[in-house]
Amino acid sequence: MRRKIVAGNWKMNKTLPEAKLLLTEIDTYIQSKPPKCEVIVGIPFVYIESAKANHKDLNVFSEDISEHRSGAYTGEVSAEMLKSIHADGAIIGHSERRQYHKETDEQIGAKVKIALDNGLTPIFCNGEVLEERKSGRHKEVVKRQTEVALFGLSPEDISKVIIAYEPVWAIGTGETATPEQAQEIHAYIRGLIATQYGNEIADSISILYGGSVKPSNAKEIFSKPDVDGGLIGGAALNINDFSALIDIYSEI
Ligand code: PEP
Repeated sequence: MRRKIVAGNWKMNKTLPEAKLLLTEIDTYIQSKPPKCEVIVGIPFVYIESAKANHKDLNVFSEDISEHRSGAYTGEVSAEMLKSIHADGAIIGHSERRQYHKETDEQIGAKVKIALDNGLTPIFCNGEVLEERKSGRHKEVVKRQTEVALFGLSPEDISKVIIAYEPVWAIGTGETATPEQAQEIHAYIRGLIATQYGNEIADSISILYGGSVKPSNAKEIFSKPDVDGGLIGGAALNINDFSALIDIYSEI
């Protein structure tokens, strides 16, 4: 059975009091009504320590991680540092990191590896931009991103990775891939993994969909056989939408 996951990505939002309030609301919600899916919150680095100190059962991820172990990398946060404040994992290779920070597939692969080496679960993001989709190159792009970043991993390591397919044209735009488009590319990604690592591993890896998922469209997307949950941006920023998504997925 694959893990079913609803993961939030807060991006660069919320002050400390706002972050504490939302974390408390999420924790209280899932304790009062245990979901039938895993819940992850990806939050700014600066809030992780307090989040884990106050909500030890919550799965708390960073939104990035350094590709380096330690040293003269001003402003970076290492896997070892994250582990020492009890982070559970890290979102890696988000399209905003690829776009604004020019992260390459090779760097993203190094981040995935260093996360795994430090006992952190990576959520590895892939996905094409609009021109690549329009010119029919989306599979080729996702293949390259996945192969370069993940296929150097051992079978044991890749089994610990969560993948998030996020078509860039659907992130924060209100535009969603159709459930059929999501299913097609999720099945394609699973096929790539099967070719490299075999069916058993491919069938065990959770592939999340991300891109303007909200309560009004989640049921159709989450119902697709190769969609194992969502990486949620805007709708993860308030308890009503986030809890509704958890409920919708719990009932599928
Ligand atoms: C994201 O940031 O990963 C994301 C999917 O954002 P949104 O849900 O707002 O499109």
